[in-house]
Amino acid sequence: MRVIRNITELKSELRNLERSGKTIGFVPTMGYLHQGHTSLLDRSNYENDISVLSIFVNPTQFGANEDLSKYPRDEKRDLELAKTHNVDFVFIPDVEEMYSSYLTTVHVKELTSGLCGKSRPTHFDGVTTVVTKLFNIVRPTKAYFGQKDIQQLQVIRRMVSDLDMDVVIVGCEIVRESDGLALSSRNVYLTKEQRVQALSLSNSLREAKLLVESGVKDTKKIKSLINDIISKNQEARIDYIEVVDFETLKDIDLIENRAIVLLAVFVGKTRLIDNIILEEEIC
Ligand code: AMP
Repeated sequence: MRVIRNITELKSELRNLERSGKTIGFVPTMGYLHQGHTSLLDRSNYENDISVLSIFVNPTQFGANEDLSKYPRDEKRDLELAKTHNVDFVFIPDVEEMYSSYLTTVHVKELTSGLCGKSRPTHFDGVTTVVTKLFNIVRPTKAYFGQKDIQQLQVIRRMVSDLDMDVVIVGCEIVRESDGLALSSRNVYLTKEQRVQALSLSNSLREAKLLVESGVKDTKKIKSLINDIISKNQEARIDYIEVVDFETLKDIDLIENRAIVLLAVFVGKTRLIDNIILEEEIC
């Protein structure tokens, strides 16, 4: 496994491999790796000759009052984990290497204005810009993203399609703890009591799915059920509960096609997100 911190060096290594016909799988992350991340690495390994992991806590996707400075980091542990998951290259640039001088932002309209974009108005520009830079550096055959961040996944799919980028985007299932909590680097912020309250996110989504399966299509009823379950928890403050169309991410009143139920909830000071996709057959 090679650890590379320099853009030119990584490009040169990967272009040689590209020329020799190797396929390159790419997993961009902000580090503090967990099984959600390693599930993407395993899929990349299975489907490609070479796997590249990037670890970069991207400052441009954090708002002014967010947790950039205290975002959890543990490079040594991340590298050990990457090694056990057979990563070929780990790219760990510093902020100066990625943004020594830049005047360009990649912006995807409409899909970024609702949901997390409402409370984090600069977040997705930060994501699409850094992902574009990383795609240009790595030139992956396939890139792997978790459905945990479903809005991000749909925004990146749209960007790749709109800008004719030569990369296949692979969306991977949410990895959860055995009790249902979606794995997240931010779970480390939760106290024991908050961890219990955070379970209301996945529990309420499971209940919502059951309600839809029982024939309820009215999204007001679904949101109200979720609201009731989460609000029972003293430390939980709901940012949003939305039911949207899978492609457009626009609010819907009735579930008729493939849809997504999404949540963002502060538990204490920690903002957690989760979602569930309602497939065509249950809609
Ligand atoms: P992050 O380091 O949080 O930026 O996440 C890097 C990638 O890992 C993103 O594509 C996330 O969607 C994905 N990811 C994070 N948590 C999970 C999870 N619990 N299950 C699956 N993928 C995840």
